Amino acid sequence: MNITLAIKNRLTINQVANYYGINYKGKKISCPFPGHEDKTPSFKLFVKTNTFKCYGCGKQGDIIDLAMYLFNINNTEAMKKLDADFNLQIIGKDIDKKTKEKIKQQQEKIRLEREKEKRKEDLMNKYAENYRKCAEICEVLSPIYPNEPCEAWLMCNELMIMYEERIDNYE
Ligand SMILES: [Zn+2]
Repeated sequence: MNITLAIKNRLTINQVANYYGINYKGKKISCPFPGHEDKTPSFKLFVKTNTFKCYGCGKQGDIIDLAMYLFNINNTEAMKKLDADFNLQIIGKDIDKKTKEKIKQQQEKIRLEREKEKRKEDLMNKYAENYRKCAEICEVLSPIYPNEPCEAWLMCNELMIMYEERIDNYE
């Protein structure tokens, strides 16, 4: 029997999405895939065809593709993972060690990348906040601002250059 088909026939897209923490209630939600910073909800499940699609990054497919994109693993690894997570026992009782380890590493990588993005975003927010405050101070101190920078602006500027450098060099 075809393993791919056997796995696909056993699970629904809702089941798989739900199990992996995608909270879908019929309306488009933010894309769950690593690497796609989805500002407007563009991810959708199609119950009838057992598929999904993200209108933002264009990723689409069946339940196996969903696991592939979520965990950044290949087709075989995705099938092994689904088989193990849902205890389908189509491929084998246990997911093999190597695949397990790779999935763990990928998840850790995704987690670290998200944390990094978050820290960068925080830094940019601080920068914006600082810029706003500087402008406010200068409006008070200098009647002709922004035509001529006020003294406080020069101090602010130094701070902002520091932030800019930190954002540019962010690793
Ligand atoms: Zn997407």
